[in-house]
Amino acid sequence: MDRLSLKEKISEGLFLLDGAMGTQLIARGTEAGVCNDYLNIDSADIVFDVHRAYLEAGSDAVITNTLGANKYALARHGFAEEVARINTAGAEIARRAAGEGKYVLGDIGPSGDFLEPLGNLKHDECKDAFRRQAKGLLAGGVDGFIIETMTALDEIAIAVEAVKSVGGDLPVFASMSFDRAGDDFKTMMGVDVEAAVSKMVSLGVDAVGFNCGTLELDEYVKLAEKFVSAVRALSQDVLVFAEPNAGKPELVDDKAVYKVSPEDFAAAAEKIHSAGVSIIGGCCGTGPGHIEAVAKRLK
Ligand SMILES: [Zn+2]
Repeated sequence: MDRLSLKEKISEGLFLLDGAMGTQLIARGTEAGVCNDYLNIDSADIVFDVHRAYLEAGSDAVITNTLGANKYALARHGFAEEVARINTAGAEIARRAAGEGKYVLGDIGPSGDFLEPLGNLKHDECKDAFRRQAKGLLAGGVDGFIIETMTALDEIAIAVEAVKSVGGDLPVFASMSFDRAGDDFKTMMGVDVEAAVSKMVSLGVDAVGFNCGTLELDEYVKLAEKFVSAVRALSQDVLVFAEPNAGKPELVDDKAVYKVSPEDFAAAAEKIHSAGVSIIGGCCGTGPGHIEAVAKRLK
């Protein structure tokens, strides 16, 4: 079947990503605290089911269940040697769910460590780790890559360079997580929107964005506006994407609970879209209901 490449497809206009993976896995009976990425090996049917639910809700793409599948994050669960297998399996499950008609983005998240000189993580080793993850995803058939939940400029730069060295011409999306900082927004590592956008654009990514964070919905709308103006100020032809959480989490019995309804989430997504963001999905607390509401409202 003939279809547009992911690059062509995202340049055409509105493109919907999926919502959260973790909460959907738990909703299907997996235990909190297990290695989510290893479920690609021992519970592929559950991961497949989450992907299908998002595609049926209206997602144009699904994101692989590999956010923590770099060797550092996997080592915390004793799976450091399983990078290739876990990533390839994750990409294959998503590919099978998406078929040839929809798209698969290979998910890459932070190492969880600090790079030198702040921490002990060496640049070359970190780059090699992201390269191995990207190779595993590529072998499983992804259409592009999404680097998410990053907070440090040096780490996102290393991740983008690693992915580009493996992925050839495949599109790369890069995203950082922002919190409120006075009247502004900054990542946990103190990076503001202008610095984040200018760094990510300079790395040659296809789309720059934000995901996760600890913001209210109307703050995500403001963040979207800031992102779009930062990109326009650089006069660059780079797309902006947004994956807000379902609002700010509230603590209930020591657990983070996200209470924003699909309708309220879709109303914010519409404002984010009007601000000039053409690629929209959800992060923590969003489910197929949220994506379905966004699809109904915007498509
Ligand atoms: Zn999140």
